Amino acid sequence: MSLVYERVHDNLQRLDLRSIHEALDGHLERSQDKSFMDVLDALLADEVETRRVRAVETRMRTAGFPVAKTLDTYDFTFQPAIDRKAVEDLRALRWVHNAENILLLGPPGVGKSHLAIGLAVEAVRAGASAYYTTAASMVAQLKQATRRDGLEARLRRYVRPRVLVMDEIGYLPMDAEAAHLFFQVVTKRYEQGATIYTSNKAFSEWGEVLGGDAVLASAVLDRLLHHCTVLNIKGESYRLRNRRRLGAKAPENEGGR
Ligand code: ADP
Ligand code: MG
Repeated sequence: MSLVYERVHDNLQRLDLRSIHEALDGHLERSQDKSFMDVLDALLADEVETRRVRAVETRMRTAGFPVAKTLDTYDFTFQPAIDRKAVEDLRALRWVHNAENILLLGPPGVGKSHLAIGLAVEAVRAGASAYYTTAASMVAQLKQATRRDGLEARLRRYVRPRVLVMDEIGYLPMDAEAAHLFFQVVTKRYEQGATIYTSNKAFSEWGEVLGGDAVLASAVLDRLLHHCTVLNIKGESYRLRNRRRLGAKAPENEGGR
């Protein structure tokens, strides 16, 4: 009797059925009146759900989001110009399935990074892999990899994930080498992976951003915009909303950050 018990637990561990291993004793004590199928069903459902949660956590860690943001914490009433319906449509994640792009444009503080991360988190929860990078960090890494003869391997980091967030295009202008590395990522992801781009620069300024190379910029935009939802956020900076309010007579304490 005790041997069967030990063997079952031993095998559960060998098969890495951790959740069943942990829940089994409780079920043995509580489930006398349940059928074998009902108990097995409950144990397996628990194992599957635990694995799903664990896999989401792993993908979240791999994605390397710099801050935890979700679509649910984005205040659309603060940014009325934003096309809320378009954002709701994006929640269905057809853009991930179809390897399409999202481009978030607007000045600092309007929530581009917040929305980009929130959308990527939706994809991660639904089972997709994701990776977050700023444009500047990506090209710096790729430059370094080039020097060490490891460009191909490094490119894979940006090409392989189903969803890539490429944040902050345009904050730092790129030199010619950086612009070409950027172009390579855009080209390799084109129609292969879904990408969320964010920028504070209008299309007309992308030539300047991309090493002063207007031809390269139009090749980038051509691919980027081919299958793309563009959200132009024209509103005010959320970061400055409290400062503005503090200027008013009776500042209220929201207890926020
Ligand atoms: P951007 O990337 O456009 O410069 P961020 O996404 O970094 O802006 O937003 C700046 C800060 O303000 C972040 O903490 C973000 O979560 C918050 N924020 C911006 N817009 C909103 C909004 N509409 N609702 C809630 N929080 C917002
Ligand atoms: Mg940002």
